[in-house]
Formats: sequence, structure tokens, C-alpha cells
Amino acid sequence: METYAPNEAREASFMDLPISEPVRKAVAKQGWETPTPIQALALPALLEGEDVVGMAQTGSGKTAAFSIPLIEAIDPKVRGVQALVLLPTRELAAQAAREIENLSRYAPVRPLVLTGGVSIGPQIKALKGRSNQVVVGTPGRILDHLNRGTLRLNGVRYLVLDEADRMLDMGFAPDVGRILSHTPDERQTALFSATMPKEIRGIVERHMHSPRWLKVESETTTVDTVEQVYYRVDARDKTRVLRTLLDAEEKPLAIVFRRTKHGATKLHRQLERDGYRAGLLHGGKSQSQRDKTLAAFSKGRTSILVATNVAARGLDVPNVSHVFNYDLPEDMETYVHRIGRTARAGKEGVAATLVGDAEVRDFEKIRRALPVEVRKTDLPVSA
Ligand code: AMP
Repeated sequence: METYAPNEAREASFMDLPISEPVRKAVAKQGWETPTPIQALALPALLEGEDVVGMAQTGSGKTAAFSIPLIEAIDPKVRGVQALVLLPTRELAAQAAREIENLSRYAPVRPLVLTGGVSIGPQIKALKGRSNQVVVGTPGRILDHLNRGTLRLNGVRYLVLDEADRMLDMGFAPDVGRILSHTPDERQTALFSATMPKEIRGIVERHMHSPRWLKVESETTTVDTVEQVYYRVDARDKTRVLRTLLDAEEKPLAIVFRRTKHGATKLHRQLERDGYRAGLLHGGKSQSQRDKTLAAFSKGRTSILVATNVAARGLDVPNVSHVFNYDLPEDMETYVHRIGRTARAGKEGVAATLVGDAEVRDFEKIRRALPVEVRKTDLPVSA
């Protein structure tokens, strides 16, 4: 596996990469100066047409790492789907599509988003209506289109499996296998995953051509700027403690994680009753509700977002100042994903975990597995 040590004295630059002028300009427009570590590793290989397996988390800049070569791979003169990006959730699909749009703003490739949770009719119309060269979607809905014959993938030359471990966790493995069988063998494939369980190695062996294995040395790079603390609290006191912590901040933009829909709904109601402007995001909400909630939070119209894991996976809202683990995350991986919602793109953030008596043991397990220190902290005096 090729690795990249973040403190290695290697000055990577977008200028050194074989990127076309319109994409170079779009990168500059994004305000990006240097490639992130995973980009420094993956861009040269993907731009050369190689298959890549990248171990990278959200927040690492992996979306651009696969989007830039994708844009470069599209032949504007050829009709039909040339590139397909598969991701586990609607939000991630929307985010990836936005990144592709941004990075192709001076030579647009116009991705079509095909995800579940919205009616299929308009998608079928969109598939008929224009030449769709890039499709971004979730496995269930893509397969649905393939089964209906509304989508053809026999011209796909560039395929991305993003958050592959998450897609497997969500039971998408059979769907992904079926979708891949609709694409030609002689395509380029990029797979990104935060972890590399056996099943993913199996997919790589079956579906990829001698890929380059790439990994950023320190998996904590993206969360290095998150200050991680925890508070020992009485479980019945968590809401009051949360309020105290929120009130102690000048202008927090905070995501509060709860384990269940019910728990999130209850906490959201309580916070609103207490006069906070809060949004609620969980898997039971419709797509348009989710979009509205997210837009309000991104724009700062609500300053608190109460969310469950599934809804917040991969969320990329800039300027999130705090992540609160109201309920303990299930495991270390979930912990890292949750706290990665703050301190995006080099900014600073705080991740605070509220640990009740019954959670001490599980939290210790997570804490020990982390390569960084999570500091025990006392509550502000008024608590
Ligand atoms: P991702 O891991 O793809 O979710 O990206 C995390 C965030 O980093 C996104 O907000 C990107 O816009 C941003 N980003 C991606 N590449 C760069 C870069 N080279 N420099 C600065 N920010 C970047």
C-alpha cells in the first residue's frame, strides 16, 4: 500500500498535475491552493487511467480526488452515460454532484442525480430528455432504473464506489454487484472507503484491474483540528448540560447526535421549547424536508441541528463549530465520522461527548482505540 505521511516534506501542487485549464480554473475558484494528502496520492494515478483503492474518510477531500479525473475522462462528443458514481446516501450523492458541478463550472458535465426517496417519474424523464454523461446515485435506485430499462450503463468508462464500507453496511453489496455487471469490463474504477473489511477486498479482486492501494498515513489528519473533550454527566441531566454548553458559546453552529429517531425528535422539541432555533434530521424525513432543514442550518438560520447517524453521514456544512455526542456513538468509526462534521477543510472545531454512568465502559473502549487524546473536562460553573 502506498502511503502519504502528512508531515512529509512533499510540496504537492495542482500545477504539477495534468489537469485541463477549465478544471484548473475551477479548482482556483474553489479557493484550493494545494491538493489534500489523498488528492496528492490519487489524482496522478486516476489521471493516468489507473484503478485506485483509496482509504480515506469524508473530510479528506476524496470527492474532488475522484471528481477531477472523472471530469477529465468525459468526452463531450460522446452521448450516453460515461461515468457513474455510486454512494450510500442521497445527501452524499447530492454533495458529490455539487462538487462535480463546481469543478466543471467552466466546461460543464452536468451530473444527473438518481437516488431513492424521491419519485422516479422525473428521473425517467430526465434520462430520456438529455444526453446524460455523468450519473451520481444510490445503488437501490440505480438498479431500479436498470431493471426498468430506463438507464443503460454499457458505455461507462469511469466508475466510482464511494464510502464502499458504508454501502456494504447498508446491505447494498448485491445491488452493487448487479450494477457492476451492467458496465463494461474495460472501465476505470476508483473505490474509496474509510475501512477495508474483507468484503471490500473481495469486491476489489472481482471487479478491479490491478489497482493502486493508497492510504493517508495518519487517519486522524482530517480531525487534527478538532478539540476533543468529554463530560461525565448524570444521564437524566444531559439536556440541561447541553444547554449550558451551548449557552457558554458565543455563536455556536452545532450538530447534536442522538442514537434514535425518537430520541432526536424529543430533544429537538425540548430545545425548541427552550427557545433555541433548532433543526431535526433523521432517516424518517422526506427528501425535501431534509433539504430544507440542511439549507436552514447551512445558512445559520438555525444554529443547532439534532441528527441521527444515518442522516448526518458525510454531511459537509462549512463552519460547524461544535459536534455534541448526546448519545454515545456505537463504535470508534462512528465517533470519527461524527466528529468529522466539524473542523471541515482545516477550520477549528470542538467535539464534546456526554458520557452517562451506563456509557462509561463503552466510551472507554472508543477512547482507547483513538490515536488522539479525548480530554475529560469539567462543566462550566453554572452547570
Ligand atoms: P470531502 O472529503 O470530499 O467531503 O471534502 C471535504 C471538504 O474539503 C469539502 O468541503 C471540500 O470542498 C474541501 N476540499 C477538497 N479539496 C480541497 C483542497 N485541495 N483544499 C482545500 N479544501 C478542499
